[in-house]
Amino acid sequence: MQLTQLKGIGKKTEELLEKAGIHDVMDLLFLFPRDYEVFYPPLTIGEIGYKTFATIRGVFTQEITERRVKKLSISQGVFQDEAGGSVRVVWFNAPFIKNTVKTGVPYVLRGRVSRKYQARQIDQPRLYSLAEYDLLEGNLQPIYPLTKGVSNQLITKCVRQALQTEAFARIDEQDFIPESVRREYGLMLRSSAVRNLHFPEDKEAYQKAVQRMSFEEIFLFIYLMKRSGTHTKEQTTLRIPADPRTRAFLKGLPFELTDAQKKVIKELQTDLDSGHVTSRLIQGDVGSGKTLVALASLMDAAFAGYQTALMAPTEVLAAQHYETIQKLFREQKTGLNAALLTGSMTALEKKAVYNALEDGRIDILIGTHALIQEKVHFSNLALVVTDEQHRFGIRQREALAAKGGSTPHMIVMSATPIPRTLALILYGDMDVSVIDELPARRLPIKNAVVDDSFHENAYRFITNQVKAGHQAYIICPLVEYSEGLDAANVEDYTEMLRQALDPSIRIGKLTGPMPPAKKNEIMTKFSNGEIDVLVSTTVVEVGVDVPNATVMMVEDANRFGLATLHQLRGRVGRGADQSYCIFVSNNRSPEAMERLGILKSSNNGFEIAAKDLEMRGPGELMGVKQSGALSFANFDLYRDGQIASEAAEAVDRILSGSLPLTQWEKDALQQQCESSRNTILL
Ligand code: ADP
Ligand code: MG
Repeated sequence: MQLTQLKGIGKKTEELLEKAGIHDVMDLLFLFPRDYEVFYPPLTIGEIGYKTFATIRGVFTQEITERRVKKLSISQGVFQDEAGGSVRVVWFNAPFIKNTVKTGVPYVLRGRVSRKYQARQIDQPRLYSLAEYDLLEGNLQPIYPLTKGVSNQLITKCVRQALQTEAFARIDEQDFIPESVRREYGLMLRSSAVRNLHFPEDKEAYQKAVQRMSFEEIFLFIYLMKRSGTHTKEQTTLRIPADPRTRAFLKGLPFELTDAQKKVIKELQTDLDSGHVTSRLIQGDVGSGKTLVALASLMDAAFAGYQTALMAPTEVLAAQHYETIQKLFREQKTGLNAALLTGSMTALEKKAVYNALEDGRIDILIGTHALIQEKVHFSNLALVVTDEQHRFGIRQREALAAKGGSTPHMIVMSATPIPRTLALILYGDMDVSVIDELPARRLPIKNAVVDDSFHENAYRFITNQVKAGHQAYIICPLVEYSEGLDAANVEDYTEMLRQALDPSIRIGKLTGPMPPAKKNEIMTKFSNGEIDVLVSTTVVEVGVDVPNATVMMVEDANRFGLATLHQLRGRVGRGADQSYCIFVSNNRSPEAMERLGILKSSNNGFEIAAKDLEMRGPGELMGVKQSGALSFANFDLYRDGQIASEAAEAVDRILSGSLPLTQWEKDALQQQCESSRNTILL
């Protein structure tokens, strides 16, 4: 059904939605909210601190004044709460406001906080009477991933209409999950799940809906994986023997390898020299030293005369690996040659790399997944290492294998802690090694869990660290302001910070949607010490290494999963100096504090993820996604272990024929596999 058949969507909106990948009513129905606006109890003005969105209760102490600057009308008032705190409130082009607002009458006010003339101010707030807000408090409104030019209100309205259409009525008929599976595993009807994700009836229904969507996603993933039949381990291939020069190189490092590193290096040596295709996952916490373990294998292959590839998820990370490895190679005169290949290089630079590669002048090619996978021709590729792989590279393996020659050995490194049972389900036929030991740290990181009122202190602290020559990260949950979302965003925060900190402090910002070249530039500047404070989303979560950074401050830390917070913490404490981690959370419920407290008491990623899950329980309503790990849309690695087991069981039963499907069900499943294969298997 066409979008323009919905009231409120004209040609122009249709085009905008089209650009965002929403082509018809069905797409709209499966555009799930990224969050829900929760009407929280108001805070006092003192408590809102530097938040970028706030809900407060109080009175206007004087009449609203209006002035005009050219064509702009600016209305201004002063709002005061019971605790005596006060804040300036500003509306633009709302001249009527001075006639509607009454002084001395209590209101609840929701709006974004900015900083003007060294003081906080609330811009364009929405006003509620106490009675109105009472009704709203605790309610949920969907917040959709927005497209420029299309308001959340419009999307909400259209989704409401879409839920009344024929298209919606047919959702269950087209369900690709077989009826028998749905019944046996207690899954919600697809239609109810869709409805409840947009407009949750209550918490239980919402949880059921989330479970249902998570199940179908992981079910399809497992089904596709099992059918793809990449049983690499049984294939024979070339042998890579352990090389004494690699051993000498490792001995020449300024530190001793941990026992865990030595153990995994041995396991890999056995694999690579076995005559069968290696397919091994190396799990190890942040900072456990995975890079060197993989490097040992890469070097063995290179010394044996083969080419290898090291793939990273981002250009920033690829560039960093390249720098590190080239430096080590030079220092120890290994005679090996690494090269970097990234999307932001010029065509000429890329050409030079391609040529050198085909001539066999490059031993280790380092780059991002996409690049190495698509365009490159190796002369004799024998080993591929993937760093921080978010999915399991099934298509990558296929693509590389399809390039002819013998199937290359595959090593995947991941810092994502996954329980063993889940790893078996998700990684299929891969062997798993765990680096369960960290190099002895010089100084443990100091952790603090604080609320918004701590900001002045925190900024003073960061200023002092910068003056001492160090650097800091500040992490916000959101990229930019999003209507109604009560969480810090990088754009506004950076502006606010420029006002709050001394102008001599160089502030930079980094977000996912920036072009890769821009991200590279910012990260390089930060690496080189040309940026003192980096305001960022969790894009810095994965693997980045800037040893001079000593402060990690996370805004609205309660919005992140503990595994993510732990990864973020891993960005500091990498140098010789004392490092600090500051988790800012305004949710001071005992649960929230206890939850964040786990981070204080443990430094072990596996343990932390497990405890987080225990505390949160399954299906807790949390807006910003818990974990970006493995980039599933609905399936949450930590939350949905049980769901994965059930889905895996269902797939096995279907494939073995013990759960018979009707011809129609088989077709529906087949069709779904074909249409989503490329988005599900990466
Ligand atoms: P990760 O497992 O997070 O990828 P890295 O491989 O980036 O960790 O290693 C983190 C840092 O620890 C690097 O600077 C690396 O040189 C250093 N390192 C690795 N192994 C050891 C060790 N055995 N002792 C001391 N430092 C080590
Ligand atoms: Mg790493």
